[in-house]
Amino acid sequence: MEHEDETHPTTATVRGHTRTIRERPIRFVCQECGSEVTEYRRPGPTPHYCNPCWPSVQATKSAERVRRYRERHRSNNQA
Ligand SMILES: [Zn+2]
Repeated sequence: MEHEDETHPTTATVRGHTRTIRERPIRFVCQECGSEVTEYRRPGPTPHYCNPCWPSVQATKSAERVRRYRERHRSNNQA
């Protein structure tokens, strides 16, 4: 435990003002691969998936949404 509260300050331009945003190491368990990962994130909601998993998770989610939509659509047509 050497650099526990190490931060990575980054600057961002928001509405013409330059702000410094400190990304903090956020530790979480990826719900896809189950590994514990630490990522530097801006303060906000804790992510549920690690970077390598995220694209495939997104693809699965959108595919699932399309499938559900089609099922609902089909049952509506039958009724
Ligand atoms: Zn993962």
